[in-house]
Amino acid sequence: MSRPVQYNVTPIPADINNSLQVAPMPKGHSGEGFFATKLESVVGLARANSIWPLPFATSCCGIEFMATMGSHYDLARFGSERVGFSPRQCDLLMVMGTIAKKMGPVLKQVYLQMAEPRWVIAVGACASSGGIFDTYSVLQGIDQVIPVDVYVPGCPPRPEAIIDGVMRIQDLIHNEPLRRRNSDHYKALLESYGIQ
Ligand code: SF4
Repeated sequence: MSRPVQYNVTPIPADINNSLQVAPMPKGHSGEGFFATKLESVVGLARANSIWPLPFATSCCGIEFMATMGSHYDLARFGSERVGFSPRQCDLLMVMGTIAKKMGPVLKQVYLQMAEPRWVIAVGACASSGGIFDTYSVLQGIDQVIPVDVYVPGCPPRPEAIIDGVMRIQDLIHNEPLRRRNSDHYKALLESYGIQ
C-alpha cells in the first residue's frame, strides 16, 4: 500500500548561477593577467567572509539567533555557518540575553580564551544596556566587562537586525588595519578592562 503523502512531487531545480553572489574584489589595480592590492585588503576579505561566531545566549534573544541560523534567514550566506562553542576557535563573540553580574566574570573568561583578532556583538537591549532589568543583579551592559564592537538594538532584535549587526562587523573587519591589534590605542582599550 502506498503512503498517503508524497514530497517533492514537482521539485524546482536550483538556479545556482543566479542565486549565488561572489564577494566583491578589494580595491586595487588590475590589468592583463594580474591584479595587485594591499595584503590587508586580502586578509580582510578572507576574514570578513569566514567569521566563526560563538553564541553566548542566556535568554530570549538567543531564540532570535536560532531563527537567524535557520534556513529562512540563513546566516551561512555570510560565511558564518560554522558556529562554535570553543572560544579558542571562534573570532566573533555574540552575546545574546540578560547577563547577571555573577555571569560577568564567566563572560570575560570566554572573551579572554578567544584568540586575536576577535570581535564582539552585543545583541539586544539586555546585552547592550541591561534592557528592562534595571536591578541590582543585572549587568547594565556587557561593555562594563569586555569591549564591544557592534550593538544591535531591540527587545528582541529581529533576525534581520542580527544579520545587520554581523554585516557591520564585516565592514569593520574589511577595513581593519593589520597593525591595529598591536597599536597603543588598542592596548590602552584592553588595559581599561584590566586585560593585558
Ligand atoms: S533584550 Fe528583550 S528579548 Fe533580548 S534577552 Fe533581553 S528581555 Fe529578552
